[in-house]
Amino acid sequence: MRTLARLVPALALVTGLLCTAAPAQADPSAAVTGKQPEAVGWGGAVTSVDADATAAGLEVLRRGGNAVDAAVATAAALGVTEPYSAGIGGGGYFVYYDARTGKVTTLDGRETASRTADSSLFLENGKPLAFADAVTSGLSVGVPGTAATWEQALRRWGSRDLAEVLKPAERIADRGFTVDQTFQDQTALNQARFQDFPASRALFLPNGKLPVVGSTLRNHDLAATYRELGRGGTAALYRGPIGADIVRTLQHPPVDPASGRNARPGKVDTADLAAYQVRQQDPTHVNYRGLDVYGIAPSSSGGTTVGEALNILGTSSVPTADSVQYDHRFLEASRIAFADRNRWVGDPNFVQVPTRQLLDPAYAASRACLINPQHALTSPLAPGDPYHPAACASSGQPVAEPYEGQSTTHLTVADRWGNVVAYTLTIEQTGGSGIAVPGRGFLLNNELTDFNFTPLTPGIPDPNLPGPAKRPRSSISPTIVLKDGKPYLAVGSPGGATIITTVLQVLTGRIDRGLTLEQAIAAPRASQRNTAATQAEPAFLASPEAAKLQAMGHVFSATPEIGAATGIERLPDGRWLAAAEPVRRGGGSAAVVHPSR
Ligand code: GLU
Repeated sequence: MRTLARLVPALALVTGLLCTAAPAQADPSAAVTGKQPEAVGWGGAVTSVDADATAAGLEVLRRGGNAVDAAVATAAALGVTEPYSAGIGGGGYFVYYDARTGKVTTLDGRETASRTADSSLFLENGKPLAFADAVTSGLSVGVPGTAATWEQALRRWGSRDLAEVLKPAERIADRGFTVDQTFQDQTALNQARFQDFPASRALFLPNGKLPVVGSTLRNHDLAATYRELGRGGTAALYRGPIGADIVRTLQHPPVDPASGRNARPGKVDTADLAAYQVRQQDPTHVNYRGLDVYGIAPSSSGGTTVGEALNILGTSSVPTADSVQYDHRFLEASRIAFADRNRWVGDPNFVQVPTRQLLDPAYAASRACLINPQHALTSPLAPGDPYHPAACASSGQPVAEPYEGQSTTHLTVADRWGNVVAYTLTIEQTGGSGIAVPGRGFLLNNELTDFNFTPLTPGIPDPNLPGPAKRPRSSISPTIVLKDGKPYLAVGSPGGATIITTVLQVLTGRIDRGLTLEQAIAAPRASQRNTAATQAEPAFLASPEAAKLQAMGHVFSATPEIGAATGIERLPDGRWLAAAEPVRRGGGSAAVVHPSR
């Protein structure tokens, strides 16, 4: 296994960015689970945060399945081994490059509010609920979109049926997976609330305690649920007994009465489940330095925000010789793009979202002129008006950055035919609502807390208030990059709103800075989202560039870890390179069908 410790010297040479700070230690359990953060070879590739999940996808590829089959198999396995970040109780966004047509298509499998919800969803006596109370409640549970996304992806582009691709995950759930440090840490984060829900406690707190690192955790209920989905299709969830259990659980959260917890009931009912539709839609597209970059259109803000920031960066050549200017421009481009995102992006079925205008290079030029090469801008920065671009102009007051959780998981898959999937799935916060569906083996999401509970800035229209059957704005940013019409890169990450800056940083690290994909993923991260302080990892703060950026007016706040990216690259000789985190979240797992080095 290759650790960050081995990567650091190489990175330091290439970027000048690293770093006197000691890197975090790789998860010792990685050696046990066989995690490997990079792989190169032929026949297709799978990369995810988890070794069992990556192996599930690889098994499907080896048996002749395509990238879509393998992506669903990997996602289903993540529902077992990463149940706090992924699963059929949640939603996600799927980006697919089809080698036959040369086209990129996307599926929006975002959770939706009940048709009976309105902008007062999170108000009690006219006041917004405390965030923590909203999270651990039925109120925050949206109609899950993940199972429908799997079914639709397989139906449109897959070559295997759902029952077959769920098999590896069923096996992992029945035989169990090895608890690693990351899993134990994430369980500890949730321990207090899992304790209050007997079904969650039974699944994740064996004998009422944290699962021990190295022990085996099984989930027979989830294996049975997957088998039921395999037999009858997702109708069992959207119009059948699994759905009835979901609705009962969220409408009457099964809390231990002795806990004294007030878990508010939710509104989603069986008619909401029956009405759920995955949206198939065109990707966002920008051309960045001759490459075609495709992402997710709203309801996620990922594609528009990554795209606008790339367009802003594309207005000038890469300051190759000056790493401080490089970082400065990266931070300013994200600051500006977030100012626009917070003002303009929401569910396009409910608000007019200027997707095309936000991605127009002329608009980016009108925003890029705000960047002062000597000095950092001040946040919150006011949004521009994409409908009437005017150089360096702003439109009205700044809109504050909302709080967003930090969970989710991203997988990337390619197959021998050249099809590629970038898929990010989530149940929102680590552990979602904390409420497991009794007897079914999975947690319900708290995705509706991605809505703003009240307008972020009084008097300014907020595109992301709750509404009937509305989808909360996401930051999820699975991205596929084509070079001369053929796949070149595919990446994505978890991390709430930092997803956008992580994807931007990985893409530009690879495209502009001469980093390899593994290096671009491992490099220290910083995330500027139109807030006064830029979040930065310790290794970024320890770099010589950080001091110079501070002298230019950048303010930083330390955060231990940002994101957990995975990606693949098609090398010029046709081999696939799969890459994952060497250290973050305990390290990811990259694999190829036929390794070549
Ligand atoms: N709910 C978040 C979103 O859709 C993702 C959560 C996370 O990655 O932490 O943007």
